[in-house]
Amino acid sequence: MAAEITAPPYRVIPIIPALKPGSMEGTKPFIANEKIQADLGFPGELPEDWKERALAKMGELLKKYRSLKVYLDACVHCGACTDKCHYFIGTQDPKNMPVARQDLLRSVYRRYFTLPGKLFPKLVGARDLTKDVLEEWYSYYHQCSECRRCSVFCPYGIDTAEITMAARDILDAVGYGQKYSNEIIGKVHKIGNNLGLPGPALENTLEGLEEDVKEDTGIDVKFPVDVQGAEILLITPSADFFAEPHIDGLIGYAKVFHAVGASWTLSSMASEGANFGLFIGNYEQMREVALRIRKAALDLGVKRIIVGECGHAWRVAYSFWNTLAGIGAGADDPFAVQLQSQLDPRYKQPTHICEYTWDLIEQGKLKLDKSKNDHLTITFHDSCNVARASRMGDEPGGQFEIPRNIIKAVANNFVDMDENTIREKTFCCGGGGGLLTDDLLDLRVKGALPRMEALQQVVDSHGVNYLAAICAICKTQFSKVLPYYNFNRGMIGGVHQLVSNAIILPEQEQMAQQEQAAQQEPAEQQEQ
Ligand code: SF4
Ligand code: SF4
Repeated sequence: MAAEITAPPYRVIPIIPALKPGSMEGTKPFIANEKIQADLGFPGELPEDWKERALAKMGELLKKYRSLKVYLDACVHCGACTDKCHYFIGTQDPKNMPVARQDLLRSVYRRYFTLPGKLFPKLVGARDLTKDVLEEWYSYYHQCSECRRCSVFCPYGIDTAEITMAARDILDAVGYGQKYSNEIIGKVHKIGNNLGLPGPALENTLEGLEEDVKEDTGIDVKFPVDVQGAEILLITPSADFFAEPHIDGLIGYAKVFHAVGASWTLSSMASEGANFGLFIGNYEQMREVALRIRKAALDLGVKRIIVGECGHAWRVAYSFWNTLAGIGAGADDPFAVQLQSQLDPRYKQPTHICEYTWDLIEQGKLKLDKSKNDHLTITFHDSCNVARASRMGDEPGGQFEIPRNIIKAVANNFVDMDENTIREKTFCCGGGGGLLTDDLLDLRVKGALPRMEALQQVVDSHGVNYLAAICAICKTQFSKVLPYYNFNRGMIGGVHQLVSNAIILPEQEQMAQQEQAAQQEPAEQQEQ
């Protein structure tokens, strides 16, 4: 399958994609089997009354989320969003235009939930819900990474991602779930992380990491798990424990904690920051995943929760943990209240690892040698869920500035990509929103096109050889698709990987001072 996949050629700017109707029709991820569905409490297959169930679910969502109804009603088909989606740009399939994607659901909404649609369906673009429509939903709502780029350009702020989430929620309600996302959520419920890595295996992995860092630096940097009474609980994507380049980021966090003598721990019960409940648009699943983290925080008695480099995990943590689980003000059940009184109010709850590190850098608490990154010319890819769905620090736009500030503090060579492809206008890596599965590799490669084009520009103009990102999905996606565009897959890495290169640990500083003193002594003796 992989041999047939080719990257589209770069386009000439300005660009209006030529249409290729139907080019991605039938492209879809594997469907979850009965067991995977049942584990999440969803029907295992399409029931006979699927249509009634689908419409009932749609009605429920329209009541629950007023924004969904507003988005379905408000679109004036102005066309401002049409060419803003990376999947439309890469596939040229008109159904991947954000407005067309929305219309797949909107047309059914009109038919069953609006008077004109009930009376004169053809006049208002309303259509019946049929098996073919359901298939079309499954296909095209799994060609949206819920990146929200289109919403930045919509004069009404219509968020296609929310419509995609609603469609996926309806699909799950009729037993038509996606294998990749639902299987992963099941593993988190059972074992605590996306990988299904049990506690002892996690401990082994972390011990191995301690040995690697010791070999590299001569210093005992710890990667603690389940430390009762630790001050900080680190919640990070499980890819940080084993995948390249993610693992170098985890080493970076550990070195930062070590450098300032922080008391921190991971939790074997809640070792996962990712929350795929967001991707399938299911509130109950999202909450259940988040509650594991609350339980871990309560059990361990931590005072502070810090989130590692993961885009959508940070979105869930920043935007939803408060009401989902009482991490931060919001939920008011007894456990939430207990956690709120346990966590230290002097800190943001939760804190992003970049906020933590940047704060230390600003206070002069980290010793850094920027020249250690002189072999790199770095650019930064803003990850969608951080850029458009969360914040960092105290100032608006902190989510853009703080990672860049860290990079500039630890490296000498930094350049931004084209302004229309970064910050709030950033292009998705092509693998977000539950699409990071090899059954969608063709879509992922095509969807990466606009980011690859912008990268090529800075490679050509400035010799960029390091693409930094603070998202586990972006890191994995780029590792896979960079070679399709003739880039070295090793050029993707984390921000804390750069921190790890540059940081001088207190013991290293001490050793350097002792060596210097030892060198000076004989010279002074000679002078005497
Ligand atoms: S949310 Fe992102 S992937 Fe989905 S339609 Fe909009 S731009 Fe495309
Ligand atoms: S920009 Fe907004 S209003 Fe215009 S077509 Fe797109 S979703 Fe509809």
